[in-house]
Amino acid sequence: MDNKDIAQLLFPDVKLSEQEIFDKYPKRKLKEGEQVTRFAPSPTGFMHIGNFFQAFISYNLAKNTGGVFFLRIEDTDEKRRVKDARKIIYEVIDRFNLKFDEYQTFDGKDIGEYGPYVQSQRNEIYKVFAKKLVAEGKAFPCFCKKTEGKADVLKLRETKFVEDDQKEYDPCRDLTYEEVKAHIDNGEKFAIRLKTKNDGSQRIKFYDLIKGELEAKANAKDFVILKNDGVPPYAFAHAIDDTLMGTTVVVRGEEYIPSTPAHLELFEALGFQPIIYCHNPLICKLDENGHKRKMSKRLDPELNMLYFVEKGYPTESILEYLLNMINSGFEIWRKNNPDLSWREFKFGVEDITTVAPIFDIVKLNDISKNIIAKQTGEELYQNWLNWAKELDKTLANVLENNREKYIELCQMDRENTAKPRKDIYNYSMMSEYFGYMFTRPISYEIEKEDIEKVNEFLKIYAEQYKTSLSNEEWFNNVKEIAGANGYATDNKLYKQNPDAYKGNVAKACEFIRVAITGRKNSPTLYTIMKLLGEEEVKSRLLNHKF
Ligand code: GLU
Repeated sequence: MDNKDIAQLLFPDVKLSEQEIFDKYPKRKLKEGEQVTRFAPSPTGFMHIGNFFQAFISYNLAKNTGGVFFLRIEDTDEKRRVKDARKIIYEVIDRFNLKFDEYQTFDGKDIGEYGPYVQSQRNEIYKVFAKKLVAEGKAFPCFCKKTEGKADVLKLRETKFVEDDQKEYDPCRDLTYEEVKAHIDNGEKFAIRLKTKNDGSQRIKFYDLIKGELEAKANAKDFVILKNDGVPPYAFAHAIDDTLMGTTVVVRGEEYIPSTPAHLELFEALGFQPIIYCHNPLICKLDENGHKRKMSKRLDPELNMLYFVEKGYPTESILEYLLNMINSGFEIWRKNNPDLSWREFKFGVEDITTVAPIFDIVKLNDISKNIIAKQTGEELYQNWLNWAKELDKTLANVLENNREKYIELCQMDRENTAKPRKDIYNYSMMSEYFGYMFTRPISYEIEKEDIEKVNEFLKIYAEQYKTSLSNEEWFNNVKEIAGANGYATDNKLYKQNPDAYKGNVAKACEFIRVAITGRKNSPTLYTIMKLLGEEEVKSRLLNHKF
């Protein structure tokens, strides 16, 4: 009896041969330079910005070379699987408009020739290769009972390559056919482990597209390739799927570097060409001492891609910010090409950052301000409304019922100006930013000593205010009333003798602005007053709570 018999004993129902599988997944016909990349998220109920970062790199590598970008759902880890998690993956992908060439639709239809694109539907394939490895003596069944008391072996741990100088041979690696049969006859479950060919003394070199040549201790552990429920952990599924699906570059996080030697041993055992890796540094943040630190779920809500959706950032802002992190050359490119889509920015693997990018919300907000500044008032209104429809229904009603008014509000200092205001970076901030449109101010940016001298002026001004004035008439009117009430209408005269006046016209305007909006700075005051209406304006001028 040999290994082939053991393989048959373990997998009597696996009839397909390795060749038959390869026939179903023929080599892709690619033109020179075309890259096949993939996004392979695990449905854990959360889309980490780091994963999305890698997805976006993969997306660009494929698109920039005219290659293929596909989605593979890696849902083999039952324990980590969370209800609705797959939905979240699709939602994020959809919102950020990452178009896949091949994927499985949410309702289960495979688009593309290399599916199923969901790992839990590929178990039969994994078994064929597990059977083959056992038949070739490169893998063996592991029955847990005999390792009773050794919890770590019983747990059928995930492949985590730890660099130590020990080999870790499993006690089951040399079971005879008879022993295996006895376990099987006893109804025992088994896992399959790789029978490592190394003994802890070997080192291997491998090339990483970002890091260059890396050297590490070769794997010397009999790690699990099929758990005792017949499902493979990441390493085995990765080797098989990326080979069959024709991935040319695996873009993944650098946390996978320590397990790469184990992965490469698997490729070799399976007789596959080793895959090309591109391990990316993790996005981090600076702590208060300026040191880089890992982002954490607890401290950093921005870790979750849906955070940006909730905050109402335009997706372009996030994508452009990520491009900035991928390659700092993007910023200059954007300056030189203000009107092109980011899609025109082409980069290759050699341009991807090798250092851990630092997440900086201020930078993101700056990018986003520039992007929103390009929107017309109507576009901004529509985007604000779309955001509110999902996340603030009351606001959405107000916006919808007063469409013209809020479009005009959004148009302020935005259209017909060479320098549009760059003040808004997401849609959720707009209610507060335009807070004076919804409620009267609750605080006022005014100095105590100004309060006494201003009330008389505001009262007189309120009596004469009319919304029907044009912008110019409005300003002349303010000027006239201010002049008659001790404010200088000529700035030169005012500067020569400031003590002779209560202030200049600009100061008078500021008082009106503060009474209306609570703030010393706001977009066009004339428009704000017009939109609030005569009655409301007068009431605010007279009943402010300085
Ligand atoms: N499913 C793995 C993860 O989410 C993917 C790693 C890879 O891209 O190979 O971490």
